[in-house]
Amino acid sequence: KLSKRLEMVVHNVPTGAKLADIGSDHAYLPCYAILNNIASYAIAGEVVEGPFQSACTQVRRSGLTEKISVRKGSGLQVLEKGEVDAITIAGMGGALIRDILEDGKEKLEGVTRLILQPNIAAYNIREWFIENGWELKQELILKEDKKIYEILVGERGNPLAPYSTNKESEIHLGPFLMNEKSDVFVEKWQHELVNLEHISKQLEKAVQSEETAARREEVQMKVEMIKGVIG
Ligand code: SAM
Repeated sequence: KLSKRLEMVVHNVPTGAKLADIGSDHAYLPCYAILNNIASYAIAGEVVEGPFQSACTQVRRSGLTEKISVRKGSGLQVLEKGEVDAITIAGMGGALIRDILEDGKEKLEGVTRLILQPNIAAYNIREWFIENGWELKQELILKEDKKIYEILVGERGNPLAPYSTNKESEIHLGPFLMNEKSDVFVEKWQHELVNLEHISKQLEKAVQSEETAARREEVQMKVEMIKGVIG
């Protein structure tokens, strides 16, 4: 059985899609996508030998070697141009997901949907979407095993469509998530506030320099931004 997190990711893959799952580890997501008739074909990409072997084993055991190609390599390098129309990247930091997209830009030709699940720092992806003509279409937030996860769905379109005059806050907290303001969302940012206030106190106690002052100001601005959203 798939985790709730990966289930929410895979259910945003368009029906019949040719899918690439990058950083697939055990290839649970592509196996589920094929077995549940979500994707018609899938590629599982992995850069590390151990997880790559796990993916091969899982695909073989599931009897899906005809439908899932397991490939070893970094990011989108495992893809040929035009091979897939949807890509999932889950369980990594937002900065790493952004780097994978940026480094593999030319492989995105023909891709119509990106389903991304950053563990932290999702704003990197929202910024990359804006800079590269991808429109954030949907955002989801969920809690599983005491951890909170965000899922971002992008399609080609007007990258500024989801944003208002409060763009700075929306890039950090998510325009759809901010608007919905679910209990999990409020919990996530309350927790972040506690962390930032702790950092601010530490900086207050530290030997004062231009650097600590600048850092404190930065933290304080983030605190104000979050308070402005969750009150
Ligand atoms: N996607 C699965 C999930 O969400 O449960 C696995 C997440 S696991 C924490 C991250 C995986 O990404 C690891 O197996 C790691 O080897 C792989 N990975 C990290 N950087 C990568 C890259 N540049 N290209 C392909 N895979 C990568």
